[in-house]
Amino acid sequence: MSAICSHLGSVELTELPAEIAGCEDCLAIGGTWVHLRMCQTCGRIGCCDSSPHRHASAHARRVGHPIVRSAESGEDWSWCYLDNVAFVVTRP
Ligand SMILES: [Zn+2]
Ligand SMILES: [Zn+2]
Ligand SMILES: [Zn+2]
Repeated sequence: MSAICSHLGSVELTELPAEIAGCEDCLAIGGTWVHLRMCQTCGRIGCCDSSPHRHASAHARRVGHPIVRSAESGEDWSWCYLDNVAFVVTRP
């Protein structure tokens, strides 16, 4: 499935941290979120595009980290904001 995204080289992290407090930017401003995403380049936790502030995609645009994964329990899919495609990153 990797052929559909050309940015897999930016993936540094595949596993979620043991504890996730919430969207880092929302926590800082007292905002709320719907679902959480983790940047797979730097590990930043952000909120999804269904959330009011859309911090995950804002982070992707701002710093150029295109791929996030779901930080919801039981979900292991990733998403590339540049290719607008979902896939599952498997460890080599
Ligand atoms: Zn991509
Ligand atoms: Zn947020
Ligand atoms: Zn990042």
